[in-house]
Amino acid sequence: MSGQILDGKFLAKRICDELSREVQVLKDKTGQVPHLVNLMLGNEPEACSYANSQKRTAQQIGIRYDLVQLPSTTKQLELENHIQKLNQDPAVHGIMIHKPVPNHIDYRRIGNCVAIEKDLEGINVSNIGKMMLGETLIIPCTPAAVMEHIKSTGVNLRGKEAVVVGASEIVGKPLSLLLLREWATVSICHIATSEARRLQDHIAGAEILVVAVGKAGLIKGEWIKKGAIVIDVGINQVNGHIVGDVEFESAKERAAFITPVPGGVGPVTVVMLMRNGIEAYKYQKLQNKVERLSL
Ligand code: NDP
Repeated sequence: MSGQILDGKFLAKRICDELSREVQVLKDKTGQVPHLVNLMLGNEPEACSYANSQKRTAQQIGIRYDLVQLPSTTKQLELENHIQKLNQDPAVHGIMIHKPVPNHIDYRRIGNCVAIEKDLEGINVSNIGKMMLGETLIIPCTPAAVMEHIKSTGVNLRGKEAVVVGASEIVGKPLSLLLLREWATVSICHIATSEARRLQDHIAGAEILVVAVGKAGLIKGEWIKKGAIVIDVGINQVNGHIVGDVEFESAKERAAFITPVPGGVGPVTVVMLMRNGIEAYKYQKLQNKVERLSL
């Protein structure tokens, strides 16, 4: 029997509707809506198209979203000054720095410049540390989107074997902490796991499998444990088509639930950015404890 496809567009729409109701309530209460700023260096077509999709989502939810484009030659200090101004502006509630940034920019330093209560992407080292301690104000968007997909299946993670393939700072590592918080038993596989030819062994035991590597077809369908939840974060261009890291057709035959690429994690990720903006606004305006995001 073929697995159920986790439709990211459908899930994104459902969360968007919930967030748009929440923004309306906040507007009634405070007379304002969250105001988010996306700082972009340069004007690469791909980055602009992603920013457009963020803008459309913000409009749908009723959030104010501004794209601020600076020249790609902007110096580190100039960018940091720009961020400081946004940090101090009470009319701005959320800041994101569009990636990739030019090579001369130290992204880690930039991340630490963003005020922690306005850090939409959770890139400030304090927000990363808070995640470790379970005191999270902001959760990075892609891991949050993965968790929403898993939640939508209704499966309780407590005691389940979860395997995350890919250990990046923006996806694999933070996601592992979120799975751990739900009491899954988490294994993190990475390049050395593949080099040691142990990837297939780990995947064979995965009741929850999340793959975030960026290599088309890395995970063979026949490796998937029957009845697993499979979340494919990977985005790869193959012969003009976008595909994930998991062999979709064969994996679908074994999984209970599986995300497609495109149309799985991606659409939900954008909505998570908006949700972070709303949480940041509530924190700044209402000094809300962020119950949904804390342990
Ligand atoms: P990174 O390149 O930063 O991280 C990839 C990770 O996979 C690294 O830990 C890397 O190890 C590991 N890796 C590389 N090769 C192998 C292998 N053969 N076996 C096991 N692990 C391996 O990528 P990101 O985390 O930024 O992104 C991962 C994928 O997710 C990409 O395709 C990206 O486009 C996509 N993505 C999708 C998003 C969405 O919203 N849908 C958002 C963000 C990313 P090492 O570094 O040691 O080589």
